[in-house]
Parts: sequence; structure tokens; C-alpha cells
Amino acid sequence: MPYINAFFQPRKNEDRPRVVPDGAVNFAFIGQFAETPRDTIFTTEYSIRTGMESVYTLLNVDRGVPEVWGSKYDIRELLRACYFGIDKKPITEIKLNLKEKEMLRILLKRVKGTDIELLLKDSGLIE
Ligand SMILES: Cc1cc2nc3c(=O)[nH]c(=O)nc-3n(C[C@H](O)[C@H](O)[C@H](O)COP(=O)(O)OP(=O)(O)OC[C@H]3O[C@@H](n4cnc5c(N)ncnc54)[C@H](O)[C@@H]3O)c2cc1C
Repeated sequence: MPYINAFFQPRKNEDRPRVVPDGAVNFAFIGQFAETPRDTIFTTEYSIRTGMESVYTLLNVDRGVPEVWGSKYDIRELLRACYFGIDKKPITEIKLNLKEKEMLRILLKRVKGTDIELLLKDSGLIE
């Protein structure tokens, strides 16, 4: 995708300024290259959130910026993301070496009849 390379460059926490840097009282940074907690760039929501955060913080507006949904802490979403990450195939269909196949066999045996098996099924990773 043209024009999008900068978004996908490796990024450390201190690489980009916080929306309202410590001590700032009359300026803020907004948009994709300002840092706001928890969110992921490459969305229009990110830009909007930074705008809200800057106005609410600088003008002491007593309103919360809409929460970022914590999908990275939700095992169901993470498993589903893995499923999409391997082109929507069950794990049994991906190319594995002998050792990996054996580990997978042991894992699937261990989780049989457990909630983990249900979660794996729901995600599409096993059938
Ligand atoms: C290929 C691609 C696909 C995308 N797909 C999605 C998607 O599916 N969903 C999604 O949510 N987001 C998507 N995004 C991201 C989304 O488009 C951007 O995050 C969003 O548009 C950023 O909005 P913004 O207002 O912060 O900045 P921008 O839209 O970049 O606006 C910044 C504006 O400032 C102007 N400007 C720059 N410098 C100056 C200057 N010195 N003086 C005056 N004006 C200046 C620019 O011309 C521009 O108009 C995509 C982005 C790209 C590139």
C-alpha cells in the first residue's frame, strides 16, 4: 500500500511524542505520529482519539476518551487472529516439521475435552 510505510516502521515507546507531553499547557500532538496508550495506529479512530485526548486534557474537560477495546488481552480474539494469520486454515493443515507435528499432537491430546479445546474450535484453529 503506497503512503503507508511509515506507519509500519518499528516503533519504540519514546519514538513519538505523547499527545500532551509532560508540562505542556497550550500545545499537543495529534494524529498517527503521536503516542497514546494502548491504541494501535493505522485507523481513523486513533487520530480522533488523540484529538479528544488533547482537548480534554488541555481544557480540563471532564470527559473520558472512549476506551480502546482490550482485544489483546482476550484469548478468543488472539486465537481468532492466529487463524486469520495462517490464511483461515486449521493448524492441522499448516506445514510443520516432524518435531512441531509431534508437539501439536501432544498439545491436542492434552487439551481434549477442556475449555481450551472449545476455544480452539471456536477460533477455527481446530475442527
Ligand atoms: C493506504 C491506506 C489505507 C488506510 N486504510 C484505513 C482503514 O481501512 N481504516 C482506517 O480506520 N484507517 C485507514 N487508514 C489510516 C487513515 O487513513 C489515517 O490514519 C487517517 O486518515 C489519519 O487522519 P489524520 O487527520 O490524522 O491525518 P491525515 O488524513 O494524514 O491529514 C493530515 C492533513 O494535513 C495536511 N498537512 C500536512 N502537512 C501540512 C502543513 N505543513 N500545512 C498544512 N497542512 C498540512 C495533509 O495534507 C493532510 O490533509 C489508511 C491509510 C492509508 C495510507
